[in-house]
Amino acid sequence: MHRFVAGALAISWMAASAAVSNDLVLSEAEVTAQRERLARLGFEWMLERQKRLIRVSSAIRLHGDALCKGKLSPVTGIVAATSAELPEAYRETAYRNHGVEDLLKVLWILPDYPAAESGLRAGDTILEIDGRETHAAAYLDQRNPTDSKTFTALKLERGGEIFDLQFESRNGCFRPAVLSVLDNVDVHTEGARMLVYSGMLRFVESDDELAIVLAHELAHELLGQKLSVESAESEADYLGLYLVARAGYDVAVAPEFARRLAAEFPLALEERAGHIHPISTARSIALADTLREIQGKLERGEPLEPRTR
Ligand SMILES: [Zn+2]
Repeated sequence: MHRFVAGALAISWMAASAAVSNDLVLSEAEVTAQRERLARLGFEWMLERQKRLIRVSSAIRLHGDALCKGKLSPVTGIVAATSAELPEAYRETAYRNHGVEDLLKVLWILPDYPAAESGLRAGDTILEIDGRETHAAAYLDQRNPTDSKTFTALKLERGGEIFDLQFESRNGCFRPAVLSVLDNVDVHTEGARMLVYSGMLRFVESDDELAIVLAHELAHELLGQKLSVESAESEADYLGLYLVARAGYDVAVAPEFARRLAAEFPLALEERAGHIHPISTARSIALADTLREIQGKLERGEPLEPRTR
C-alpha cells in the first residue's frame, strides 16, 4: 500500500519537474540558493509537525494515565535534538537556524507544561539529564517512573553559562510519539516509542483526527496481543475513543474519519497491510455505539470510564 502511494507521488513529481525544466534555465548559484531555501523550509515544516504531534500526544497520554495501568512515562513536552538524530538533509539548517550540533539542543517546549514553567527555553543546550550525560532526546520521555510524577534535573548551557534547572512533570501513558519524516500515511509502535509518519500528519485534517490515530495506536499497546485482528481492532477503537474524549478532543469526527481512511486505502482492508487499520462494517457499527456511549456520559457529566471487558 505504501509503495503504491509513494510510486504515484514519484511519478507526478517527475512529470512536474520535466515540464519546468523546458522553460527555465537556472544558474548554479540560483540552484544552490533554491536548494538551501527548500532545506530551510523543510526543516521548519518538520518542526511544526513535531510540535503539533507533541501537543496532541501529550494531552492524550496525560489524560489517559488512569487507563494505562502503570504503563507510564514522563510527559515533558520538550522537543530537542542532536545533529545525529536528524535526517542528514536537515542538519545544515538545524545548525544554522537553531545551533543544533553534537549536544542536545532544546528546539521547543510545550507552553504551560512544567518544563516551560521551570524557565527552560528553546536554544538551551542540555548537558546532563539526572546527572547523566546524554545525546538522546528520547531519554527525556522514556524513563521508567516509579511514581505518578517524575522529577527531572537538567544541567544546561545558555549563552556560555552553565546552570542547573529542575522540574517535576506528571507521567502519562507510555510510548511518547516521535515524528518520522517518511511520507507514509502510517503509525506504529517501535521499541519504546510510537513512530508517527509525516504523511499521517498531512492526511489528518484536524487535531481531533490526529488524536483518534494516536489514541487507537496507544490503545493497542495497552490491550496487548489479541486472538483475532477483528477483536483487537474493535477493542482498540473502543478504548481509543475514550482516550480521545478524556483529552478533550471531539470523538464525533471518528466515523467520517474512518470512512475517509477506508476510502483512501481500500487495499489495506483486504490485505491488512501496514498499521493504519482501516475499518470494516462491523467495526463502524461498534464505533457508532461507542460514540453514543461516550456522548451520553459527556452530556450527563459522568466520568469517562470505559467498560472493562
Ligand atoms: Zn488498529
